[in-house]
Amino acid sequence: MQGHAAHNGLDNRARFKGIHGPLGCASASCQRSEDRRLTEPVDEPCVFCEVVAGRAPARIVWEDDATLALVDLRQAHPGHVLVLPRRHLSDVRELDQDLSGQLMWTVVRVTRAVGEVFANEGLSLWHSIGPAAFQEIPHLHVHIHPRKRDDGLLRVYPNAPVGADAALLDQVGTRLRRILSPT
Ligand SMILES: [Zn+2]
Repeated sequence: MQGHAAHNGLDNRARFKGIHGPLGCASASCQRSEDRRLTEPVDEPCVFCEVVAGRAPARIVWEDDATLALVDLRQAHPGHVLVLPRRHLSDVRELDQDLSGQLMWTVVRVTRAVGEVFANEGLSLWHSIGPAAFQEIPHLHVHIHPRKRDDGLLRVYPNAPVGADAALLDQVGTRLRRILSPT
């Protein structure tokens, strides 16, 4: 566990808020983890890269050579956990197939554990990309969150969404099929 347990009494929420802008991690440690040369002075380290390196406190519940899982500082329902790759990537679009598989397998294992250990009537998994989706830490992570009926959390639509018309549905399907299967 690389000594993280020794820091478990510390609340690093201020670090999360204080060392990051809304997005955009120019951290030297992040760049190192992407195998880039260290060409800029260290200014704002990515907190998850700091956790990976053992320099920031975290309650780590799982780690392997590619991924780790840690307890989120917010526990609206007990059991809220984050799964992330060790390597600094902004979001899922930067994953390759191998790391995708490793990350998802950790998500599966941790989700099973959370669902078994903590009372719930369901679970939410989510991953936010960019400011409009409220991504808080610019290091890819997947939330695993126990849910209760009518808990008022994570409502995707504040009101029942209106169904789209067929022309729009066809257009969306066509545009995506074209880029996903161009031949
Ligand atoms: Zn990072």
